[in-house]
Amino acid sequence: MAVSHTDFIPVCEPCFLGNEERYVQDAVRSGWISSAGGYLSRFEEEFAAYCGADFGIACSSGTAALHLALLAHGIGAGDEVIIPDFTMVAVLNAVLYCGATPVFVDVEADTWNIDADLLREKVSSRTKAAIVVHTYGHPCEMGAIRDAAVAAGIPIIEDAAEAHGAEYQGVKCGNLGAAACFSFFGNKIITTGEGGMVVTSDRKIAERCRYFRNLCFSLEGPRDYRHGDVGYNYRMTNLQAALGCAQLERLDELAERRIRNAKRYTRRLSQVPGLACPVERQGVKNVYWMYGLVVDEAKFGISRDALMAQLTQRGVDSRLFFKPLHSQPLLQRFGLAVTAQYPVTESLSARGLYLPSGSGLTDDQLDRVCAAIEAIHHEAKR
Ligand SMILES: *Cc1c(COP(=O)(O)O)cnc(C)c1O
Repeated sequence: MAVSHTDFIPVCEPCFLGNEERYVQDAVRSGWISSAGGYLSRFEEEFAAYCGADFGIACSSGTAALHLALLAHGIGAGDEVIIPDFTMVAVLNAVLYCGATPVFVDVEADTWNIDADLLREKVSSRTKAAIVVHTYGHPCEMGAIRDAAVAAGIPIIEDAAEAHGAEYQGVKCGNLGAAACFSFFGNKIITTGEGGMVVTSDRKIAERCRYFRNLCFSLEGPRDYRHGDVGYNYRMTNLQAALGCAQLERLDELAERRIRNAKRYTRRLSQVPGLACPVERQGVKNVYWMYGLVVDEAKFGISRDALMAQLTQRGVDSRLFFKPLHSQPLLQRFGLAVTAQYPVTESLSARGLYLPSGSGLTDDQLDRVCAAIEAIHHEAKR
């Protein structure tokens, strides 16, 4: 496990509990260090099986996984893809890589996930897919989302980059749509350093992801070096997959630690006036990738930004919530002026932060974070 050598409490550190070093060393010694090898196929099979799906296509990042899933669904110029306004820029970028048009949808005030009713209103004749993000580990309201998708005749692509091990009505995130995209970046619930995976039970989609992942080399027959489409090098290495196999063995434990920490945070911080804690809706399992708080300045005493600055002074790291995607400056280059209103995302973005949330966070560290927040509140209200 990573050991911190100072009193500073970071937002997240990777957490290695088992066979990580052994498997990586084994991969190095075997000479299978590039994009073929036993760990790679094992990681793809075992991670897909963990999610309850048939196929896993490992790739170089979560962003690449999103791009592959869209390519595999034939998304291109002139198509619209529905995405939440409150999420990470990778989701927007993947749509733009395809030459498609993003259509933003506001989120729910409690789960911070895409609002199914608003999603339904944004469907047009050009809509070809929707990406839904299980924000900070809380599964989306998939029943209502699926109904809207069926009515619109579009596939749902899950972005489960923040939701390894989360469940909706007993079904794992990653098995709730046409395809799901995971990230294994260093701060995710399991990591391969950098990496991602598309998970699906649709053989055709899986084959197309493999095709685009590897420069559109033909998947069958001898390699003739003729390419019918523009492909990408989005391959994962066997070294990364070795780390992934070891992390996957501990995934449930790593998620349980985050859940336990979140409950400990909520027990204490829900007593502090002016702080809204994360929720867990009936029928879902939230894995609390990051523990978010939304600050009501009038009740808490100071603003979100002032709270973050004071936390830093007290040795506690924190991060801002996402900025609304519809207001990202990069959209101007695409002539995508967005005039619609996204009041929930705007409010979350102005008032939200997340606290140290790694699976290796100790009770002692967590209690220090809570004590710092309580002290800041009391001082502000004096
Ligand atoms: C982390 C993340 C990604 C991107 O993953 P990378 O591996 O960093 O490319 C995409 N979507 C969401 C919601 C994420 O949190």
